[in-house]
Amino acid sequence: MQHVIIGAGPAGVIAAETLKKIDPLATVTLIGDEPEPPYSRMALPYYLIDRIREEGTWLRKDKNHFQAAGITLLQDRVTSVNSREKKLTLEKYADFDYDRLLIATGSHALRPPIPGMELPEVHNCWTLEDGRAIAKLAKPGANVVLIGAGFIGCIILEALAARGINLTVVEMGDRMVPRMMNQTAGNLIKEWCQDQGVIVHTSTGVESIEKAGMRNGLKVKLGNGTSLKADLVICATGVRSNTGFLDGSGINTAEGVLVNERMQTNIPEIYAAGDVCQGKDFSTGEYSVQAIQPTAADHGRIAAMNMAGKKCVHQGSVNMNVLATMGLISTSYGLWMGVEGGETAELSDPGRYRYLSLQFQDDVMVGAQAVGLTEHVGVLRGLIQTKLHLGKWKNHLMKDPTRIMEAYLGATQAIGHNAGII
Ligand SMILES: Cc1cc2nc3c(=O)[nH]c(=O)nc-3n(C[C@H](O)[C@H](O)[C@H](O)COP(=O)(O)OP(=O)(O)OC[C@H]3O[C@@H](n4cnc5c(N)ncnc54)[C@H](O)[C@@H]3O)c2cc1C
Repeated sequence: MQHVIIGAGPAGVIAAETLKKIDPLATVTLIGDEPEPPYSRMALPYYLIDRIREEGTWLRKDKNHFQAAGITLLQDRVTSVNSREKKLTLEKYADFDYDRLLIATGSHALRPPIPGMELPEVHNCWTLEDGRAIAKLAKPGANVVLIGAGFIGCIILEALAARGINLTVVEMGDRMVPRMMNQTAGNLIKEWCQDQGVIVHTSTGVESIEKAGMRNGLKVKLGNGTSLKADLVICATGVRSNTGFLDGSGINTAEGVLVNERMQTNIPEIYAAGDVCQGKDFSTGEYSVQAIQPTAADHGRIAAMNMAGKKCVHQGSVNMNVLATMGLISTSYGLWMGVEGGETAELSDPGRYRYLSLQFQDDVMVGAQAVGLTEHVGVLRGLIQTKLHLGKWKNHLMKDPTRIMEAYLGATQAIGHNAGII
């Protein structure tokens, strides 16, 4: 069996290793277009603060890992998929045949159509190559403008600030991390950043970027009339699945590659995993792009099991975001924005930068968000994932949402008693 995987990120690597474990005799080829050994984008912030070198970002630290595991690693770009003839066209190498194919090509960072985006001092922070360019320009004392305070923007914000730069953040939304946090929580994070010396503009965008003179860096104009000096502009305005090369392949795509519960596309021998695909969301049951690494890992493992002939159904990944913004930890899980007809328990302590909100549907917790509260984050996730009926503990949580651990223990013991276990 010829298994071919396109994309050597976390989804592709986990899939390749899973395939080899289940079927050691199968041929597994992993094709990745980046000029580095497979690495984790999640490690880029640690690279930017010099906590690790480039090798520290590698997903598998031993250079011979893939060879030793019997996985052929090919550095090339796949330009098209011919699903009728089961053939791939590559940029450098000759056409490549497959029996089963996994598309794990991830996503790419977007650049909004703003004048000046093409200037050499403007970078995304998505690849190791971007990381190198940022490290070169973000020297102590440099003026840096970060466009976008979403999940990725806020992750790199901490690393950038640690480089001793003057940082200004510009976010179109009316708060920070608007897709992960509500108004109260998002604004609490904004205040925290401002207290740490970062300038944050919300509800406005960058209108243009231009050269400020021969050696004076850039001038960045905002929609609210502010003009900023910058030595470096970092664009973190969202990502989009890498599906372009599938045009004409017959594989169905929308926001990402469409798959079923077994990570299989409309073409039975072709599967998809990770940021490139719309996988099942545990909370909604719907199929969407989550673009987070734990989901990519889930997908890669499940796709590989099915490719190897095991029947493995994806129950859905919990949309879960954990963020450290200049030392302030914030988390959001599942349906953090609540559900129609549901109830919300809320605790807000802005003076201590603490916030917690729990979302219920009947007596089941379906979502949560927390700022500055790191205890019990595992329990929060567990409660949402197990859909535990909290019974009377739901009312206790409505009065005091911090009693999460007690509620979990109380509700699970009640189940144990009822079932005669305890
Ligand atoms: C700075 C940063 C911090 C992050 N932090 C977190 C975090 O804290 N938590 C979290 O959950 N997630 C985080 N993420 C997101 C996480 O990195 C992604 O969700 C994850 O990398 C997705 O894995 P993947 O394997 O689907 O795709 P990718 O890691 O993007 O890998 C896909 C690979 O396929 C290659 N490829 C694309 N097209 C082709 C082609 N045609 N031919 C060959 N190869 C191709 C790509 O170049 C890439 O190397 C972070 C991302 C960034 C940039």
